[in-house]
Formats: sequence, structure tokens, C-alpha cells
Amino acid sequence: MHYKVVIVGGGSGGISVAARLLREARWLSGQVAIVDPATKHYYQPLWTLVGGGAVAREVTEREEASVIPEGAVWIQEAVKEFKPEENQVVTSSEKWISYDYLVVAAGIQIDWDKIKGLRESIGKDGVCSNYSYDYVNSTWESLRNFKGGNAIFTAPNTPIKCGGAPQKIMYLADDYLRKSKVRDKSNVMFVSGGTVIFGVKKYADSLNKVIARKEIETRFKHNLVEIRGKEKVAVFEDLDSKQRVEIRYEMIHVVPPMSAPDFIKTSPLANADGWVDVDKFTLQHNRFANVFGIGDCTSLPTSKTGAAIRKQAPVVVANLLSMLHTQPVVKQYNGYTSCPLVTGYGSLILAEFDYSNTPDESFPVDQGKERRSMYLLKKDLLPVIYWDGMLKGLM
Ligand code: FAD
Repeated sequence: MHYKVVIVGGGSGGISVAARLLREARWLSGQVAIVDPATKHYYQPLWTLVGGGAVAREVTEREEASVIPEGAVWIQEAVKEFKPEENQVVTSSEKWISYDYLVVAAGIQIDWDKIKGLRESIGKDGVCSNYSYDYVNSTWESLRNFKGGNAIFTAPNTPIKCGGAPQKIMYLADDYLRKSKVRDKSNVMFVSGGTVIFGVKKYADSLNKVIARKEIETRFKHNLVEIRGKEKVAVFEDLDSKQRVEIRYEMIHVVPPMSAPDFIKTSPLANADGWVDVDKFTLQHNRFANVFGIGDCTSLPTSKTGAAIRKQAPVVVANLLSMLHTQPVVKQYNGYTSCPLVTGYGSLILAEFDYSNTPDESFPVDQGKERRSMYLLKKDLLPVIYWDGMLKGLM
């Protein structure tokens, strides 16, 4: 089996690249393969609002078949091995697929099992997470059942997808608890393995005001290591003293540690940390010139988001087409990423920035302010831009 271009992963990055490539080079029709075992495709950014009860889970899910662009061949299998020296990938059923060019877009791996007791307790008795379609409804359920006590929101000290998501759901929760008159009986806590609330000063300043206004308790450099579901106790490691700290909860929203997918970590495509080792500007692999990477599985030193992929896809496609025409690879990505920081039902700070953590904003207003218009953009407009624009290779 041979294809001119093989794309591993048919999520946000893989489909965006395939659609754009086939739109710009129709002659590639039938010569682009997408390898992905998934039956469903998810618009994950809305899971924050699903967890907050503002959007139904079902609107975030579509059949994978429905997003495969015309002209692409879908091979519905998992890749288990990369053989870049031989220009081949091997699938779980031992199919060897060869390529001229490879694009790796396999997303990030959520390491649920790295937190002791999490698997056993997730989805019930107040333990919830927006980081999976299977569990996202448990967040809303936990919130509705919450009658007071500690509501804990965690963030790990590893890279994660959407760095802002651990706190967005907390602001929605605070808003909901105020509306349902239980906020005065509750202690809302952000317990994070990180060191700051947000990496870009302009937005961190705004978020610190939100936290003060909402009377949220914060603890940094505390990593969740264990959930004792029966006792409703969360165990954190203080990253400075290495001491264990136990906190009782009535509800806990968990963002587990994440890492590069195992089959990438162990492959020749990985850098020392396991990510697909690409040039941060051209997205071309640093050692295998006919390989590109996009999205959450890459070494790109920016916040891992779908918004970042919207700017990465045109770069991958332009550089891939240059190579197909034996031209030099010149198109560059500046690290653009965006985090729509929901601060309540109807308010949002739209963070947009680049590799240097300098704001790179789209609108002629101060985006450091909480705005209703930006909330509506996230809830109603960005999903349309995703399904009908990005996944069609149009934006
Ligand atoms: P994915 O879209 O996750 O796709 C990876 C694909 O690879 C999957 O289809 C998977 O089946 C496939 N795959 C995995 N292993 C293999 C294998 N072995 N072989 C073949 N295929 C494989 N982004 C924003 O821009 N804004 C937001 O507000 C936002 N909020 C978020 C909130 C939450 C709760 C979450 C979970 C994410 C959020 N994101 C947000 C992040 C965004 O969804 C991701 O960054 C984006 O989907 C990453 O795209 P990707 O293509 O790299 O990975």
C-alpha cells in the first residue's frame, strides 16, 4: 500500500491538513491517506461549556466518516510503529503503508493511570473531568449535586491541551454556585502543579482580579497524585517540600497529567521528551525532511490548542506543497495560539499570543477585559468556524 501523503491522526490537525491539501492540490485526490481508528470526531473546546451545563454533549460529536474530506482515503486503524528510514508506518493489524510524505497529527495522551485511584473513582461521587467525552457530563452532574464544602479544581505540572481549561470550568462552577445560592457554604480551590495562573502577563493580571473577586483559594506547585474516592480525599504532592498534602473534597474536577502518545515516544520521530521533533517555524521534522508534525503531539513550544492548529495547518500544507514541487520550505508559523478564558456564563477573556508570549490579538478592543461578545464568539461562532471552515480546509 503506497500513498503520496500519509496523515496519522484524523483529529483537528489531521483533517485540517488533509482538507486544505486536497483543496489546493486536487491532483492529489486518492493519494492522501488518513490513518485513524476513531469512529467519532470531537469538537473538544466546547467540553468546557458542556461541563458547565451550557451546551449539550452531543453537539460536540460527529461521525469520523463525515469529516474525512473528499479525495482522502481513510484507513480505520491505529498506527503502532513509525519506520521513517523506510518511509513506512505499521498499523495494529500489521499493514505496512509506505509514503512519500508523512504528517503526524496524533494528539496528546491523557495519562489517567498516573493518578492512583482515579480510574476507579472518575465519573462518580463528585469526581469529574471535562477531558473526556465519556466523563464530561459528570462535571455538570457533580456541580448540580454539590451542596457545599470543598470544590477542588486541579491542573497537572505536565504540558496539557488547552492550558486554560482547568480554570475555565472553575469560573463557571463559581458562577453556578452563586446562582444556586450555595457559594457561601463552599470553598472553591484551584490546586495546580504549575507556578502561575497563566503564562502571559496581560491575561494573568486580568485572571488574578477574577480570582480575587470570586474569592477563590489558589495553591500552586501542588500536583494531584491520588484520589481516595470512598473517603473523598485528594492527595497532592507539594513540589517544593515533596510532602503529601491531603484535602477533603465534596467535588473535584481533575485534569490528569498528559504526555506524547506512547507509540510516538518510543519512535525515531520523538525528541528527548517524547514529542514529534519538528522545527518550530516550518513544522518540518528536524531529522526526517519528508515528515511534518502538527498539533498536540508535536514539540512546538506553544500552548496546545485547536486555535494554534488553525494557524499551523496552512504552514504544513504550504511547505508540503513546496516539497512536492521540489521548492524550498519557506512558510513559517509564529507560535500563535489562543485560549478563550471563560470567566462565567456570558463572560470571557480572549487570550491570543505567540511564541514570545506577546499578545497577538484579532480584535480592535482590549481583549484582557471580560466580554460577553467573546463568550458568544466561543459558544456560537467558533464551532461553526471549526466544522465548516477549518475542517473543510477553508480557514
Ligand atoms: P486531536 O484532535 O485530539 O486528534 C488526535 C487524533 O489522533 C484522534 O482522532 C485520535 O483517534 C488519533 N490517534 C491517536 N492515536 C493514534 C494512532 N496510534 N494511530 C492513528 N491515529 C491515532 N482548543 C482551543 O483552541 N480552544 C479551546 O477553548 C479549547 N478548549 C479545550 C477544552 C478541553 C476540555 C479540551 C479537552 C481541549 C480543548 N482545546 C481547546 C484543545 C483542542 O481540542 C486540541 O488542542 C486539539 O483538538 C488538538 O488537535 P490534534 O489534531 O492535535 O489532536
